[in-house]
Amino acid sequence: LEVPIHDAVLGGAAAHGTRPALVDALTGHTLDYAALDHLSRRLAAALAASGLGKGDVLALHSPNSVLFPVVFYAATRCGAAVTTVHPLATEAEFARQLTDSRASRIVTVAALLDTARAAAQQAGGIAEILLCDRADGHRCVLDLAAEEHPEPDPRIDPATDLAALPYSSGTTGAPKGVMLTHRSIATNLAQLAPVLANGPEDRVLAVLPFFHIYGLTALMNAPLRNGATVVVLPRFDLRQFLTAIEQHRITEVYTAPPIVLALAKHPMVDDFDLTSLRRVLCAAAPLDATLAAACARRLGLPAVLQAYGMTELSPATHVVPPDADAPPPGAVGTLLPSTELRIVSLETGRDLGPGQSGEIVIRGPQVMRGYLGRPAETDAMIDPDGWLHTGDVGRTDADGWLHVVDRVKELIKYKGYQVAPADLEALLLAHEAVADAAVIGVPDADGNEIPKAFVVRRPGAALTVDEVIAYVAGRVAPYKKVRRVEFLDSVPRATTGKILRRELRARERSSTPR
Ligand code: ATP
Ligand code: MG
Repeated sequence: LEVPIHDAVLGGAAAHGTRPALVDALTGHTLDYAALDHLSRRLAAALAASGLGKGDVLALHSPNSVLFPVVFYAATRCGAAVTTVHPLATEAEFARQLTDSRASRIVTVAALLDTARAAAQQAGGIAEILLCDRADGHRCVLDLAAEEHPEPDPRIDPATDLAALPYSSGTTGAPKGVMLTHRSIATNLAQLAPVLANGPEDRVLAVLPFFHIYGLTALMNAPLRNGATVVVLPRFDLRQFLTAIEQHRITEVYTAPPIVLALAKHPMVDDFDLTSLRRVLCAAAPLDATLAAACARRLGLPAVLQAYGMTELSPATHVVPPDADAPPPGAVGTLLPSTELRIVSLETGRDLGPGQSGEIVIRGPQVMRGYLGRPAETDAMIDPDGWLHTGDVGRTDADGWLHVVDRVKELIKYKGYQVAPADLEALLLAHEAVADAAVIGVPDADGNEIPKAFVVRRPGAALTVDEVIAYVAGRVAPYKKVRRVEFLDSVPRATTGKILRRELRARERSSTPR
């Protein structure tokens, strides 16, 4: 197990030879396993010759493409760590990540070159900008891979050397650089092997981004290690997504809640043949059990399988095993091997038993080394005994299934009670006239925090504020009632589907008269 991540993933690539490793769903551009392995070695040789080595950081700024893993494994082969950058990052956000991570190289695509250049100028210290495709005056990684250089031998120590430096999603605040070693990523991959057990006969659709640790693990490292074919889409568009499933006879999709919502409710789904799908997995944000069941029913599958994790956990601790015949509705999975879980009271810090909700606390080999350059924040999260405090609230049942309630910081405190916005959102989404919904706590005139719902109506649906309030009030304990409602055109969400409740809070502050 103690091998660098590129060896853990590509160790069997030669044996898969001419089997397609990656296919671009839009252009048909295909890379077989031999080419993936060869190109990543040749590019590593060229990058090393130009000075990229152990301890360096390469910023990879690209939508999903067949060359994304080539660049990723080429950099790790040099002993460098890859910091993946959101393709929609602004100049300022990108510059901040470059400075914070001390990146010295950027690999981007022609369409994003202007942003990358501006960010590089703002940050300084960037030796070179390379492209995955062609544009005047810039070198393409394929040109580098054609050069003759010796392969690097950086003597990586998997236990301590960083392979990746992803940034947390920034849902609750500024994104933080998460130090993940070769060992933590490779170990999590091994822990996931029995549950993400796709094989050479599988075709996995990569629509969630590779730059996020979820996509990097479930859509890149795991299927490429298993000899499956990864069909890539650069962004989510429902029609392209459904077309790709039909055309490529996709067997597995990895999703976030908004995609499950679309699969369950959107009329367009009926126009496509999705019978090749064997498995739909969902993670990254709370998923309503009713919605999950509706999605599974429509696709003719036993269940939508959930998983739980976070960037700081490389990323997974819980997955619903594919052979579980009846996972309890809403469960995010059972604990992965060699991982320990505690549920700790938010009030007393004491350990709680099954059925009781508290903070999810984790110990295991997948725990990050820490946040880059933020020792205080690292210490606040990982205690001296190695337990990582996730900031999420959850509970286990008697059989060890984990249920995630919500983030500790998002709980609405109404007159001494705690209300989980995710519960109310799930309830609202179950209403047939509701296309999307988000809930936050807002202050009322007496200084109490009260739940407010932001609701997106289905096209053509008539739904009033009073109807929303009455609908929720009829289904929850009185303290959980939604007390304010506002209709929106869309709910602000991150790429991985997470609701950006802080944007709704900011909107609320700027629109409320003082
Ligand atoms: P930041 O830490 O920068 O505020 P973030 O926490 O959204 O952003 P990620 O590491 O991408 O960054 O997301 C991890 C979080 O996603 C978890 O802490 C949890 O709140 C949520 N999450 C992940 N999987 C699930 C799931 N299955 N159900 C509910 N929530 C989930
Ligand atoms: Mg987080």
